[in-house]
Amino acid sequence: MQNFGCRATQADGAAIERQFQELGLEQAGGPSKAGIVVLNTCTVTASADQDARAAIRRIHRENPGCRIVVTGCYAQRAPEELATLPGVSQVIGNSHKHRLAEIAEIGPRISDFRLRTGSPARDFVPLLQLVGEGQGPTTEVRSHVFVSDIFAHTELLAAPVFEAANERTRPNLKVQDGCDNRCSFCVIPYVRGQSRSLPLGEVLREVNALVESGYREVVISGINLGRWGRDFVWGGRPRPPRFEDLVWAILSETSLEKLRISSVEPMDWSDELIQMMARSPRVAKHAHVPMQSASDRVLRAMHRKYRPWHYRERVEKIRAAMPMAAIGADVMVGFPGEEGDDFDETVRMVEALPFTYLHIFTYSARPGTPAAALRNQVPVHVARERNRILRELAAEKKLAFMRGFVGHPVEAITLQSSRSLSSRAELDDLPANQSGGVEGPVVFTEALTDNYLKLRLKGRHEPNLWLTAQVVQVESGTLFGTLN
Ligand code: SF4
Repeated sequence: MQNFGCRATQADGAAIERQFQELGLEQAGGPSKAGIVVLNTCTVTASADQDARAAIRRIHRENPGCRIVVTGCYAQRAPEELATLPGVSQVIGNSHKHRLAEIAEIGPRISDFRLRTGSPARDFVPLLQLVGEGQGPTTEVRSHVFVSDIFAHTELLAAPVFEAANERTRPNLKVQDGCDNRCSFCVIPYVRGQSRSLPLGEVLREVNALVESGYREVVISGINLGRWGRDFVWGGRPRPPRFEDLVWAILSETSLEKLRISSVEPMDWSDELIQMMARSPRVAKHAHVPMQSASDRVLRAMHRKYRPWHYRERVEKIRAAMPMAAIGADVMVGFPGEEGDDFDETVRMVEALPFTYLHIFTYSARPGTPAAALRNQVPVHVARERNRILRELAAEKKLAFMRGFVGHPVEAITLQSSRSLSSRAELDDLPANQSGGVEGPVVFTEALTDNYLKLRLKGRHEPNLWLTAQVVQVESGTLFGTLN
């Protein structure tokens, strides 16, 4: 199983792994040893598509005998394109992901699918021949494609994601999928469908199970997380359930020590949500508020639902309520028609607001989206330069924020690994008072602060502990600290 892309895709991948386990299949020790390899793809940019195609080619080269099953957002958007790639045995869109293991396991005996499921396999499209883009007049295709109208689907795949590497201590739980907005640059609604939420009871069950397994922090995520609950039938109640109700329920009905909220769209940062986050020590002080642009003209062309002054007001409220919180944003540069003046407005907003980190994206035209049809595309070199300017600005702001913690205590959770820094380069990188002039290895434990800063804690510490550390220095984008 190989996952690409965002947290939501990782969560789908975890749910697919559960499906295979329920069928009694086990993880192989890597693609070269597997009988079936599932590639869970992303299609948010052209380079995400390219990465998926490169992975398919590599796996087919290394293990020509395995069946490659491609799923995810790219599979939903362009199944035929993927079906023509050598080695691909099945393409299963997001529409059919909830039954992926069953379909993949049956594999070539695909006619059994109708028998086992008891439902007609009407969405199953056996592609025998089709013209592949740039591949000559006809291409023989042996893949089976399972894709249907994503807007007709209401299933929500959900399983906590336990990230590899050193973050096994902070599982991510997807509680919402799909999106009812239509931002003009975004392909996600077309590949993930309408907004739908994991019922409250199921969220609480998953969180309680994670708490019982010993996890101390859980991250809740979604494609448009702030819309959680709006799709529920709410007959008899005065209003539909809202995201604030979900946060409140997790705090009051589980004993989770720390809840971290991933990205929430600007207009869903209600006063109530901000206050709940500010007042509860059990909610990580971390607000991610997608901005995209600070130009009103560009925001309108993007079909974003807020104006720059709304955005500014929300972020200022968050900062006023939580002076030490991490505040992050997604910013897009090079949207079609973005003039120098529009970009300058974004730069001024970034300078003025108390961001502690930014995710900066360069616009990438996605086939089928309204923005892709706009004629005034921004030249690549201009978009790259704007990206560079914002990255530098973001790095300066982050550093200034981090420096403010030197000499102060911070709350942090220890991650999976301790690192022994022993190479000359690594030791030279250390603050003088951390290496202490010692020639031998210096051991640090990686940690993440409540407000989303990387911390290296001197000494070896168990993973998954909330500790209070004293920050002694900032170096290479990391806080260095010791235990009080
Ligand atoms: S809010 Fe806009 S950018 Fe985000 S998933 Fe929905 S359509 Fe895409």
